[in-house]
Amino acid sequence: MTDTATMSRIDIGALIAAAADTISAHAEELTALDQAIGDGDHGLNMKRGFEAVRAEAEALAQKPLPEALKAAGTKLVMTVGGASGPLFGTLFMTLGKELPAVRSRAELTVALGKAIDAVAARGKSQAGQKTMLDVLHPVHAALAAGKSGAEIAAAADAAAEATRPMKAIRGRASFLGDRSIGHMDAGARSTALIVRAVADALEGGA
Ligand code: ADP
Ligand code: MG
Repeated sequence: MTDTATMSRIDIGALIAAAADTISAHAEELTALDQAIGDGDHGLNMKRGFEAVRAEAEALAQKPLPEALKAAGTKLVMTVGGASGPLFGTLFMTLGKELPAVRSRAELTVALGKAIDAVAARGKSQAGQKTMLDVLHPVHAALAAGKSGAEIAAAADAAAEATRPMKAIRGRASFLGDRSIGHMDAGARSTALIVRAVADALEGGA
């Protein structure tokens, strides 16, 4: 999935549909998670953003994958809002910027690492603070370890679950201090949903 010829065959429309489908299908769950320890807008924020990207899927599918990622990231920044919009936007925009240099799985791992670093810089955050980064880092590690798409998706789900006992140090949930403990982070859950959708779309299920 990482050599240039294969990457040029990636079905951008199918990737967008898979991500938008899962976000919209889980919007109420994401809202409930954000209601527990945030302001309850994460489900609608993400649904609005991914449906806005879906509305442009035909035009995006005409672009090379790096350009499509950059354009999707820009759209997410403009439409998701909240704290998560600029962070997801940064992830996709940086991936798009780094992708032309990728010729192997090892280089894809480096590119994802740079995109995650850009999210951390933007959020002034790091792993262990009960955010989307707590899913992105294990996903990066699983990719680096040569795991399959299904294994990477499982690692993302487990990582989202693992935010439950954490105390939030960044984002709105951090205002609650110890009361943020015991709930899954909404952005960690949405990140895991996107990772699974992308893994399934690239590997045709599993
Ligand atoms: P808001 O917090 O502005 O209401 P959302 O509800 O859309 O925005 O997104 C909240 C999610 O964004 C959190 O669950 C968390 O995963 C992520 N998040 C918030 N702040 C940060 C940050 N500084 N670094 C990384 N992720 C963050
Ligand atoms: Mg919120």
